[in-house]
Amino acid sequence: MTTVAVLGATGSIGSQTIEVVRAEPERFRITALAAWSSVELLASYAREFQPEVVAIGNPGLAATLRMEVPEGTEVLVGAEGYEELATRAEVVVNGIVGFAGLGVTLAALSSGRRLALANKESLIAAGPLVQPLRATPGAELIPVDSEHCALHQCLRSSDPEGQARYLHQLVLTASGGPFRGWGSVELQEVTVEQALEHPTWAMGPKITVDSSTLMNKGLEVIEAHELFGVDYKQIEVVVHPESIVHSMATFTDGATIAQLSEPDMRLPIAYALAYPERISTPFGSIDWGTNKSLHFEPPDRKNFPCLDLAYSAGETGDTAPAWMNGANEAAVDAFLSGRISWPEIANLIESALNQYDGAVAESVEAVVRADRRGRECVATDLSDRGR
Ligand code: MG
Repeated sequence: MTTVAVLGATGSIGSQTIEVVRAEPERFRITALAAWSSVELLASYAREFQPEVVAIGNPGLAATLRMEVPEGTEVLVGAEGYEELATRAEVVVNGIVGFAGLGVTLAALSSGRRLALANKESLIAAGPLVQPLRATPGAELIPVDSEHCALHQCLRSSDPEGQARYLHQLVLTASGGPFRGWGSVELQEVTVEQALEHPTWAMGPKITVDSSTLMNKGLEVIEAHELFGVDYKQIEVVVHPESIVHSMATFTDGATIAQLSEPDMRLPIAYALAYPERISTPFGSIDWGTNKSLHFEPPDRKNFPCLDLAYSAGETGDTAPAWMNGANEAAVDAFLSGRISWPEIANLIESALNQYDGAVAESVEAVVRADRRGRECVATDLSDRGR
């Protein structure tokens, strides 16, 4: 029996983690649950799974939660409560959205837990701080991102420990998002509704917009570099609209190994919970009895400049990814609230990166500061533009 903590329990990743646990009740037991503000759903999960501890991010909802959860359940509050809760199970699923997930990533690894990481931003923004914590006895970092879960499986084919041995390159696949093939004139007119229509994956709004700009893929390039210790020159991105091949690894002898399934996040979640074993409930298995075609094409780097902005921030290293990630979160917020057009997301990030100060990622404070500075660059730019 593996004990599981789910942070961001009421979001997209959290709810799908709950489904995996429901499917395999003999294998997994939820002992800790946390959500930011969806108190009713959190309480209903607590009544179903009877965890030892729950946490609510928004302190104003703590009293409501206390009344709704089974007697004897410990209730924690706020960011500190999250970090405490992240030490209370063998596997910690970090499904928090955005940079706010950093504290949980650091807490889970430094307490020697397996971190099932869906919150890629914490690894991307704070790679230099997260890396040494991976050496904590018992600590383990398994990605809950379909591409990186695929890469994790591909790398195991040439090294049982999943090290990047005999590797020529990692090939990250991208669906291309809803605007694949669109020209610059059409992209000027993109609406929020259109950007939230992902062709193959149903996800939260922030990551869906990131997918439409290819920033999500850029962040995933940095994530792959951090997870597997592979040089940026050895990470390739290829557009694959069907989202069936989740990523590939090409080895020095010319062989490419790929992992395929229907797009279903429950598969990477279950992989991270059960590794090195596999669960017996299939999620996303392909029906090979029907006709299928798979397509691959290079990304349009000109109309989707966020991809190369991310490569550049990654290669700069230190606090540049945090700076860029902060700028991106602010720009995506501005787009979602109707203040800027879709192409301005990339403009604002580029302008923020041009102001990067080169600060070393020596502490959590340095990373938090870079994140804040990235956001401030966007805010200043917006007010200069009268938005
Ligand atoms: Mg992904």
